[in-house]
Amino acid sequence: MKRRIVFATSNEGKIREIKMILKDLDCEVVSLKEAGIDADIVEDGETFEDNAIIKAETIMKLTNDIVVADDSGLEVDYLDKAPGVYSARFLGEDTPYSVKNKYIIDKLEGVEVEKRTARFVCTIACAFPDKETVVKRATIEGYIGYEEKGTNGFGYDPIFMYPQYNCTTAELSSDKKNEISHRGKALRLMKPVIEEYIKNN
Ligand code: IMP
Repeated sequence: MKRRIVFATSNEGKIREIKMILKDLDCEVVSLKEAGIDADIVEDGETFEDNAIIKAETIMKLTNDIVVADDSGLEVDYLDKAPGVYSARFLGEDTPYSVKNKYIIDKLEGVEVEKRTARFVCTIACAFPDKETVVKRATIEGYIGYEEKGTNGFGYDPIFMYPQYNCTTAELSSDKKNEISHRGKALRLMKPVIEEYIKNN
């Protein structure tokens, strides 16, 4: 029987991404919903790492499966790395991203491009039933644009300029974004760890 890996998210986009990246491993990747888990996890950690570990270990204790969880967000250097771990809750959980994005652009009014540096951060935690939790972190570096551009992606993508392509991450196709994204990179760093565990257990 194939080994089961639960990805502790209900975000369909993230599920698709992890399934694609881990597709050649001999395992079945399922979402929380597919695993029949309805858990309300309080993400009250002070770092991305803390939150990813809280999520992965909480679900692992419920299912005894290998559990992967991620936590991510945007750090804007000029705003002392805000919104950071509060990215989803910034200005209120239900506030539209058009409002959050405009707020950030307004805060950076008149700030020259060199000081607009920002990054998306992603930490991935993998909790195992009988082995210490492993955490990986990856980033994508860019800067905050002067206006919202693009309709792909989600969240802060329309204001995050990716210098290599001179466009926002909301202007990239989902394949291109997966290739360069913080989440894709962190997942690819975790993949050999999971591969090794599956081989030996
Ligand atoms: P979480 O990791 O699901 O808790 O998401 C944190 C928040 O960070 C999201 O709700 C977005 O606001 C933001 N975020 C994380 N990754 C991205 C991204 O790739 N594009 C745009 N916003 C992102």
